[in-house]
Amino acid sequence: MSTAKNAGFSTLAVHAGQAPDSATGAVMTPIYQTSTYAQEAPGRHKGFEYSRTGNPTRAALEANLAALEGARFGLCFSSGMGAISSVIMTLSAGDHVVSGNDVYGGTYRAFTKVFSRMGIDFTFVDATDLGAVERAMTPRTKLLWVETPSNPLLRITDIRKACVLAKKHGALAAVDNTFASPALQQPLALGADLVAHSTTKYLGGHSDVVGGFVATSDQALYERIKFVQNSVGAVPGPMDCFLVLRGTKTLPLRVRRHCENAMAVARHLSAHPQVARVYYPGLPGHPGHRIAKAQMKGFGGMISFELKGGLERAKRMISATNIFALAESLGGVESLIGHPATMTHAAIPRGERLKSGLADGLIRLSVGIEDAKDLIADLDQAVRKS
Ligand SMILES: *Cc1c(COP(=O)(O)O)cnc(C)c1O
Repeated sequence: MSTAKNAGFSTLAVHAGQAPDSATGAVMTPIYQTSTYAQEAPGRHKGFEYSRTGNPTRAALEANLAALEGARFGLCFSSGMGAISSVIMTLSAGDHVVSGNDVYGGTYRAFTKVFSRMGIDFTFVDATDLGAVERAMTPRTKLLWVETPSNPLLRITDIRKACVLAKKHGALAAVDNTFASPALQQPLALGADLVAHSTTKYLGGHSDVVGGFVATSDQALYERIKFVQNSVGAVPGPMDCFLVLRGTKTLPLRVRRHCENAMAVARHLSAHPQVARVYYPGLPGHPGHRIAKAQMKGFGGMISFELKGGLERAKRMISATNIFALAESLGGVESLIGHPATMTHAAIPRGERLKSGLADGLIRLSVGIEDAKDLIADLDQAVRKS
C-alpha cells in the first residue's frame, strides 16, 4: 500500500515505506539477509549494490521512520551512538559544538572522550537556559545538540527558540528525540535541521534490538551523513531493521499507554510521603511543563524521582521491585528502574553530575504498558522495604 501525503500518524506507522514485496506479494517486508546483489551489467543494478551502502529491509525502515518524523530523508544505524557519532563525523577539527549538559551518558562520553581528541570542541550548558546556550556560541560553532525531554532530569528545551538561536549563529540544530519519539514530538516541524534516535528505545519498543536513526529534510546534510555512514560503516543488519519496523506499527498505541501510566505513577509519587522530588514534565509544577504542553502531544513514559533518605535508601529501593526490572535502557513495553549515577550516567564525572542537578540518589523509571495499579503497588512495596 502506498500512503497518501495527508495520511495520519497511525496510518503512516503501519504502512509508510512498506509496499507488498514485488517478487512474492509478501505483506510484511522480508528480511533481506544478503550482503550483495546481482548486477545485470557492470554498474547496472536495481538500486542495491552492497549492504553497507544499502539494503531493502533497511530502506523500508528508513522510509517508515522518515515519514514519522515528517522528514524527506532518513538513515538507519547500528545503534543510537552509531547515528550520533556519524553526525559528529561530518564536522572537522577546529569546529565547535554546544551541547545540553544532561544528555545521554554515552553521548557525553563520545563527545568528551572520543571526538574531543580529534580536535572537535564541546561546550556543555543547561539547554533549557537559552541565554546560556547563546553565550556558549562562538564563530566556530557548527552544531547545537539538544535532548528534550533530557536524560535523566526530563528537562524541557523550547525547540523552536533553540533552533532560531542556532540559525542566528550559523549553526545547525540537532535534537535527540529518543525520549519523546515522533509520536509525541516532531522537531523538524519546529525548526530543527536534524533529528537523532536510539531506535533501541520507544521506536523498537520491545527491548529486543539495538539501533539508531537520523532524519533530515536537508538534502546536502543527508548526503554528508550518508557519505560518513558508508565510509565508516555503522550500519544495521536487516534482521534488526525488521524488528524496529515491526515495533513502529504499534508506536502510537504503546506511547499513548506509556503516557497514561507514567502520569498515574508520577501523580502517585508526588503525593507519597517518602518521596522528596518527582521529575515529570506532565506535572504542573515541573519547570518545563508549559513548553512541554505546547511542543509535545503527551509527556512520555520517563519519570525520575528522589526518595527521602538519599543514596543508600535509593539503592535498597531499586533492588526491591518485582515488576520493574533493575536494568539500563528504556522505552520497552516492560517497566524498568535504574540508578543513573551508577548505571546510565556513570561515565559523567560526579562533579559534573551534581552541577547539572543529577543527585546521587536519583532513581529513573521507564514506565511500561502494564496495569498502572500494579506498577504503583510494586513501587509502594519497594519503598516500604527500603
Ligand atoms: C540510548 C540512548 C542513546 C544511545 O543509543 P544506543 O542505541 O544505546 O546506542 C542516545 N540518546 C538517548 C537519549 C538514549 O536514550
